This record gives sequence, structure tokens and C-alpha cells, in this order.
Amino acid sequence: MSDQQKSNLAAIEESILALWQKEHTFEKSLKQREGGKYFSFYDGPPFANGLPHFGHSLVTSIKDAVLRYKTMRGYYVPRRNGWDCHGLPVEYAIEKDFGVSGKKQILELGLEKFNNACRDSIFKYKGEWEILLQRLGRWSDYDNYYATVDNTYTESVWWALSQINDKGLLYRGFKSTAYCPRCETPLSNFEVNDGYKDNVSDPSLYVKFKLKDEEAFLLGWTTTPWSLPGNAAIAVNPEEVYVYVRLKDDDGKEETVVLAEKRLEILSSSDYHIEKEVKGTELVGKEYDPLFKVDDAKNLEGAENLYKVWTADFVSIDDGTGVLHVAPAFGEDDLNLGQDNNVPVIKTIDASGKVTGGIGYDEAKGMFFKKADKYIIEHLAKLNRVYAAETFTHTYPFCWRCDTPLMYYAISSWFIKVSAIREQLLKTAEEINWVPEHIKNGRFGKWLEGARDWSVSRNRYWGAPMPVWVNEDDEDDYMVVDSYDKLKELAGDETLDLSDVHRPKIDDVVIKKDGKTYRRVEEVLDCWFESGCMSIGQQHYPFENKETFKSTFPADFIIEGLDQTRLWFYVQHVVSTILFDSPAYKNVVVNGMIMAGDGQKLSKRLKNYPPVEEVFQDEGADSLRLFLLSSTQATQTADYMRFDRSSLKDLNRNVLGTLMNSYRFFKMYADIDDWKPSKPGVEPKSTNVLDQWMLARLNETIEEVTTLADNFKLAHAIQPIFALIDDMSNWYIRRSRRRFWKTEDDTDKQQAYETLWYTLTRLCQLLAPWAPFLSDHLWRELTEGLGMPQSVHLSDWPEAGIKDQAMLDDMEMMRTMINLGLSGRADNGIKVRQPLPGPIVTTKRQLSSNGFKSILEEELNVKPATYVVSATKPNGITMNFEITPELKREGIMREIVRHVQNARKKAELNVDDRIELSLVSNDNSISEAIKEHADTIKSETLATTLSITKKDLGYQEEVKVEGEMLEISLKKA
Ligand SMILES: [Zn+2]
Repeated sequence: MSDQQKSNLAAIEESILALWQKEHTFEKSLKQREGGKYFSFYDGPPFANGLPHFGHSLVTSIKDAVLRYKTMRGYYVPRRNGWDCHGLPVEYAIEKDFGVSGKKQILELGLEKFNNACRDSIFKYKGEWEILLQRLGRWSDYDNYYATVDNTYTESVWWALSQINDKGLLYRGFKSTAYCPRCETPLSNFEVNDGYKDNVSDPSLYVKFKLKDEEAFLLGWTTTPWSLPGNAAIAVNPEEVYVYVRLKDDDGKEETVVLAEKRLEILSSSDYHIEKEVKGTELVGKEYDPLFKVDDAKNLEGAENLYKVWTADFVSIDDGTGVLHVAPAFGEDDLNLGQDNNVPVIKTIDASGKVTGGIGYDEAKGMFFKKADKYIIEHLAKLNRVYAAETFTHTYPFCWRCDTPLMYYAISSWFIKVSAIREQLLKTAEEINWVPEHIKNGRFGKWLEGARDWSVSRNRYWGAPMPVWVNEDDEDDYMVVDSYDKLKELAGDETLDLSDVHRPKIDDVVIKKDGKTYRRVEEVLDCWFESGCMSIGQQHYPFENKETFKSTFPADFIIEGLDQTRLWFYVQHVVSTILFDSPAYKNVVVNGMIMAGDGQKLSKRLKNYPPVEEVFQDEGADSLRLFLLSSTQATQTADYMRFDRSSLKDLNRNVLGTLMNSYRFFKMYADIDDWKPSKPGVEPKSTNVLDQWMLARLNETIEEVTTLADNFKLAHAIQPIFALIDDMSNWYIRRSRRRFWKTEDDTDKQQAYETLWYTLTRLCQLLAPWAPFLSDHLWRELTEGLGMPQSVHLSDWPEAGIKDQAMLDDMEMMRTMINLGLSGRADNGIKVRQPLPGPIVTTKRQLSSNGFKSILEEELNVKPATYVVSATKPNGITMNFEITPELKREGIMREIVRHVQNARKKAELNVDDRIELSLVSNDNSISEAIKEHADTIKSETLATTLSITKKDLGYQEEVKVEGEMLEISLKKA
């Protein structure tokens, strides 16, 4: 975009960015707080192998705003950003680059080549990220970042895992876990939680299992027909009644099926009769014929227990038939039932999600599990084993990274025994302050109450290798290595090169001890475990920086989106609770999501939001920050907010535009008078009620903003600043305008200057954390040469002075009366320019200043009012709309003054130019009005002479006043 199209605000922002760089403003702001109270912030690391998007601007704005605020409050706030480097997001991108998919192809490609490509890609878009973050105004020590790929970081992660193992909380289990068959790795339950989709269409299959010694079928139900070859058992609910039902099929053939009495409704026809009722427990032990003849099933340990009926509490009576198909290989409850009763696991799907052979049916062999459904159903239908096949929609989990449907898969993996420390997690969580508050005991607290064991191993390649070495002859004999030095010692090789511990090199390190050989397990660590170790990883604790770690842990403040409640916020909490019996952070702000204006998710494809660069060039980063930060949905309730360009433009105009206009007004007069503040930085004293009120409003606002910002209530902290800008511009300046026009340098004018200058500089400070560009620009303009801090960001947050409450209350009351008076005028069709007789104003108590009276009278354009103090009557105003001939002439005079002011503008005169003026009209009342009010007309229009005989002074114009002609002529005196 060319410079011509850049808005004025955007140009200011870019010049401020350049100044910050040139003057090292960020570094100075840090330096001057050294030794102050430490304010510790943890940056939630994004992946830099993908481009930043619009949604990141919210979280970036909050991070920067809070840290700038704390710095101004006197804290020492070092800032470094972090980068997430390991795990599926990176691997997935590289698989796509190489055009490979799945483990086999990666291994064919070569692990070293694959991991090198991963390493090369992790900072691919770091530059783009930094451009976005910096343009948005985020201050950070960009060169001193931490990255989860750092070898020092990994060593801290190893140490953490060994500590967890020492506390008896690491174990290897053969468990059914959520599993992505494409990525060929288990996922943790919180990753699964992130990937549920609604309205997924799946089969709903009623299938018949033939009882061995009876002419009857157990009627089962499943939504995963692909899992049927893995069937090993049937479970029924011990509390329920089951019925033998005689029914006719479509061909008129009769058969008997068994199902729960409460589920009879699922039968498609009412043409049946119940033969007998049994209790669920009476079905136990009955044998049935397997649907598929799986080759080695009979050789498995516990094969004698296959294909029998068991009872289980988890058998649902709310859906299905009450007869549960149990496949221990593909379900958590299923595996538990199998392990409790020594029923073997029959694996009929391989690790890459494909149907294996040897199930007595070859058509589906090699097929991806979900695709096999159709063929399995067809096969069973031919065998007359299908009662009904339908489709239905439900919620189903998909891989959060590659979008493949997940399956539950029994696999051996490593777990952290989180379920054993639920109480401790809840206890340490008590110390955390949440914004919004309800997440503490809601979304987060509930999640902790039900915390499950955390699967931390991944059968992948690009990640921190698990520091676990297992005895090759005894898998229960293993050691968790806690440092690189320890590994060298165990490996008996002091020269071992551990400068890069990624696979495959680390896989070659073998430990020999007491005649036994230990080899590293193949798995890498869940990248969420790594980000959960951020507090120690970024400091290489406990190997280095012990003191720094102490002052940075726990963090004073972290902030991420709502989705991180069960991700980053959670994993950090688990790790810090186990390692240090402490929360990882004291204050956590959770932000909501930005949605597009149409309520949809932000979508590149739909182009339902503007490119962020375009917003920077047009409304500017300050406007965007203020817009996002002041949205209560986004920053106060962590809800969804809609990004709406027209509201952004409104804010740009009404807040920043208004502030700019106020500043320009000040500057115009200050330049004319060459005015400078007498005591910069000290609250001025004034005898003028408007000044006193303005200062009271300012102090009120400083107090409010400070309290709210201290409590991280950002949106609520910003709203009062908007209101103050509005009051300053549309009330204080408007009412004070004339005070700046006066020619003589009197006290009142001085007081107006001092008050407006002071208010503007304090406003810059109040705005600095949230809108860092314009606030700094105006601050520099306002304070140049006054010996004040070079940048607003190097100034101290303002202290609130005394706020005069009576002053605030009285002004509010007077403004209410004025509005009542003005609407009375409007109702009577009388222009404000027409003076009216004095109204009667009733108040409950004496006004705190007589100055309010002239404000009311000027604003309503009325003669002096009568003031009545009455404790019994309500506050109110009674207008008098009677227009006398004198008042009429005064009204005409006002009209004339307005026309002359317009004429001055058209004649291109400066506001302080003196003029010669001639006003001629044939109308009597106009001429009389001119004669009667000649002095006022002259002083209002800065005329040195006023002639009522026709003269051509250079500029000439004819206007209409009350329907009659008036000739205006003027020139510069
Ligand atoms: Zn996947």
C-alpha cells in the first residue's frame, strides 16, 4: 500500500516505532526499573512454523498492555517471547512438504533427514511473527527468546520427568487411549477434548450374536462396525431385566432376539411377543458364536474366556439395546472389562488404522478402519447377522492436528499418574486469581476434579526424547535420566556428544550396568509436557539461573485464550504442582475468541475479516488494540467477540479522532500565545469552576482506571478513559472555548491553559499501556523542552489527586437540567440562539460554586436564573419561553455574529485577525439590533470598526437574517 493511502494515524505510529528503535525506549524503560519489584510474565509459546493470523492480535495486545502498565506502576518487567518447536504441528507440515504420510514412509525417508527438515522449518515464519508483534506495539526482548528446541530446555524437561518418576508418578501402562491412526500416536485426553466435531454421520448397526446352546440371538448395537472383528465379549447390565422376543422378519421368517426390556422401543415392528423375562445376571456365562473367525484368537492367553456374556455397570440403557459389544482393543471400558476377567485383546486394526487380514473375511483387508464399515455391514448382512442398519449423527473426536477421525486403541505408553494428585492440584489451584473469576471453580476447577492420567509419550520423531532407558531383558527395569552429565556417566563415556539430543542420534546411546544392557525407549515426549515445563525450561533450571528462577516463579501473570484452560494452563499447573507443590502462576487472564463480523470463525478462505496490515494502514494499531481490549466479551468474560470493522472505525473517530482534535485545539492557541506550562507535572489550581470540575473528573478517572487495571479488568479499565476524552472535548473544551480567545493574558486564560495541558498529558499516560503510539506522540509534543521523560512510557503512572465529589455531583446535576431546558426549547420550536428570560432552578442544597450558574445560563442562552434551595422539592428547572422585543433583537444579533464568523472563514482570515466590518440592512429590527449591540458584535467578531453605511471593504456577501437581507463586508484591519 502506498504512503498516500496511509492514514495520518498510521504515519504517526510508524514514526513512533522508528523513534523507539532509535532511542532504545524499551531498553530504557527496563533499565530505569532495575532493582524495583519484579513482575514475572510467562509467554505462552506459539509455533513459528505457521503464519500469525488476525486472532493473535488480541492476545498480543493484552500481553503488551498489561506489561507496559506494570512498568509504569514501577515494576521491573523483563519480557522475552517463547517459541514452541516440537511435536505434531511441525511433523505434520514436514510430512506434507516431503509428500509422505505415516511412519513407514518417514522411516523410508530417514529419520535424520526428516528431523533436520523439522529443525529447519521451526523458525520459518519467526520474522513474520516479529513484524506483526512489533507493528502491534508489543515490546519484548526479541533476540533473547526461549525455544522448546533448545538443548538446555530439553535438559530441564528431562530433569522434570525424572523428578516425577522419583515421586512414583510415572508409569508404563497398556491402556486404551485416544489414538490418531494417521499420526500413529496416542493423544492425551485434553488434546482429544480440543478436536470434537458435532453432527458426524456414522452407521448405527443392530447386529445379532447367535447364542451357542439356544435358538436365540443377543441383539447388540454399535456405531463402529469396523470394531466388530475385534469383538471378544458381550456385556449386559446386571440391574436390568432382559426379554426374549419372538418376532417376524420381512420375509415372514420367525426368530428370537434378546435385549433389555427398557429398549423394546427400538424394534422396528410391533409384531412381536415376549417369550420370557430374565435378569441381566442370568445371562452371565452364556456363550455365543463369534461373528468373525479371527485366525490366532484361539492361541491368545485367556482364549478360553472369549465370546461369553459378562455383566458391567457401564452398559447403557439410554441408547442401543442394553447388550454391549465389547472389543478390548478399541475401547477404554472394553479393555478394563477384558483385563478384569482375563479376556484377551484381539487386534484387527494395525497401528496405522488399517484392517488386518486373518479375520475370516478379506474384502476389507488393508482398508482404513472407517472406510471398512460399509463392507463389514454387507458381509454380516449376507450371513443374516444384521437386524437393522441405519445412519445417525453424533459428536466424534478428530485429530486436532491432521483432522483424521480418532479411534480408541489399546497400546503401551507412559503415563503421569495425575489422578493420584487431584487433591493437591485443587489445593495449589486455590492460590490462583482468575479473570474471569468463574473459570477458577468452573471450567478449570471441574477439569482438575476429574483429572485423568496423562499419556506423555508419543510414538513420534520430532520432540524431546524420553530420557528412559529400559533393560532389554526386563521391561520393568528402567531408569529415567535427569541430566546430560548423568547420561555420560551411565554410558561410561565422558566425551559423549550431547549437543543435540534429538532422534536418531540419541537412540544409539546404550547404558551397560551390572551386566545388563539398557536401551532408550523409542518414544518422544508429548510437546504439551514440554510447554508445561516452560518455567524451568526457559531458565535451564536447576542447572543454571537458580536465583532468576526464584524471582520468576511462580509467574505474576499469564494470559492466553480460553482453549488453553485445559491445555497450557493445565499442563503447567500439573508440572509445577508435582515439582514444587505450587501453582505456576498467580494471576491468569483468559481472553475470548475473535469471531468475524458475520459470527463465523475467522476464515482465510471466506475472507470474512480484513488483512491486519490493512487495519494497521487505515485505523492503525492503537485503534485495533483499543477496540479489542475494551471489548468486555473478549477480555472480561472470555466470551466470543465479533470483529466488526465499522465499530473499529467508530472508535477510531470518536475516541482517537476526538483526542486529536482536542490536542489540535490546544496547540493552535498555545502556538498563538507561545504558551508553556508554569509548573509541569504539578496539578494546577484554578478559581474557574470548569477547571475545577475537569481536574476532579481527571482524578476520578485515574482512580478508577488504576483500581481496575490492578485487578486485570482491562475492558472496564479502558471505558472510563473514553468517557474522560468525551467530557474533555465535548464539555470542557466546548464550554471553555472563549477563554482561549481572549486577547489579554489574564488569569482565567492562564488557568484554562494549565488545566487543559495537564489533562492532556495525564490522558496520554492513562492511554499509554493500551494505545502506546498516539499517547507517546502527543506526550512528546506536549512536553517537549520541559525536562520531562522523553517518552510517556518512561513516565510513572499518574497518582490520583483529590477528587472533589460535590463538584462532580453538581456538574452532573447542572448538565441534567441543561438537557431538560434544551429539550423544552426544542419542544417549543425555539432556536438556542434566541435568548430567553431567566428560568427557575430548584436544588436540594446550595451549589458548591456559583460558577455553575453562568454555565447553565450560557448553555441555555437565558437571562440570569432564579435559584431556589428546597429540601422538600426535587431538583428541577422551569423554563420561561416568553420572547420580549429586546430578547428578539438580541437573538437577531446572535444570528448576525454567526454570519460574520462564517464570512471571516470564507475570507480565509486567521482566528486572531482583527477586521474592519460593515453591516447594512433595510430592515428596521435588524438595523436596530446592530445599533443596540454594536459593542458585542465588534468584540465577538474581533472588529476594530463597525460601519452601518454601505462600504466595499474587499470581502462582500449577502445573507438572510429572519428572512430579511443583510449585506456583510469586511477586510483584515
Ligand atoms: Zn493425526
